[in-house]
Amino acid sequence: MVDSHRSQPKKRPGFPASLELARPTGGLPAASGHRVVKVAAPAPLGLGMDSSAVRHSMVTKLARQGISDPQVLSAMGTVERHRFVDSALVNQAYEDTSLPIGLGQTISKPGVVSRMLELLRQGSATRLGRVLEIGTGCGYQAAVLSLLCTEVYSIERLRGLHDKARDNLRPLRLANVHLLFGDGMVGYDKGAPYAGIIAAAGGEALPQCWLDQLAVGGRLVAPVAAGANSPGRQALVVVDKTPQGLRQTVMEAVHFVPLKSGIA
Ligand code: SAH
Repeated sequence: MVDSHRSQPKKRPGFPASLELARPTGGLPAASGHRVVKVAAPAPLGLGMDSSAVRHSMVTKLARQGISDPQVLSAMGTVERHRFVDSALVNQAYEDTSLPIGLGQTISKPGVVSRMLELLRQGSATRLGRVLEIGTGCGYQAAVLSLLCTEVYSIERLRGLHDKARDNLRPLRLANVHLLFGDGMVGYDKGAPYAGIIAAAGGEALPQCWLDQLAVGGRLVAPVAAGANSPGRQALVVVDKTPQGLRQTVMEAVHFVPLKSGIA
């Protein structure tokens, strides 16, 4: 797999970065079934639009879908999703679709990422405190989280993706993102208690240690198997840890990669 930003000039953008696109050298990547248009000079992605314009249009669509938290919309408009996907997929980076990131895993749809982040933030006017993310994947959601909370602890069980996320995030120099290689099913005790826990992979049930590592007043957002009556189905679950105990709310159906134990 080729990381999209590896082929770019060495100059490192600040963060939030000024938004310049990966410029494919061999013309535009072909969408399946579409005619490949040969261009004389390397063309920017999105047929003449720069990536901030494409991202802006993605954010407009997210708002139309019902995402209303201005901080989430702003973070989604800032992070360059095309930097986190394979170079052959950059022309789909701002569509509301999940995309393969290698090792059988996927980067979630922007609509799902923003929905989960909105739920996690609970409409707070300020940044969240420490957040634990289970399933770093390519590092995209960790980058968005870095703009919404004080510290991000993001854990990944696949060495190949942990390394890929580190490569993807390095140029962004996000001092508040801590990437961990390990089994997220046991959480990360050293960073606890967390103001928020967000999982990008769905298991049969919520591991007890996630609930233990959540701060009182904190919120967990995760996909969980819908139950014996709906095999293979998942639902998004929100758990609030209140001084009186745990309060769980089951939201809409979702489709995430499985939460697996151990490292690989
Ligand atoms: N947030 C990611 C989405 C990655 S997909 C992104 O923005 O790209 C979900 C990820 O969860 C996969 O990379 C998968 O390997 C990982 N995962 C599954 N079970 C895990 C576990 N027990 N601990 C840590 N990561 C896990």
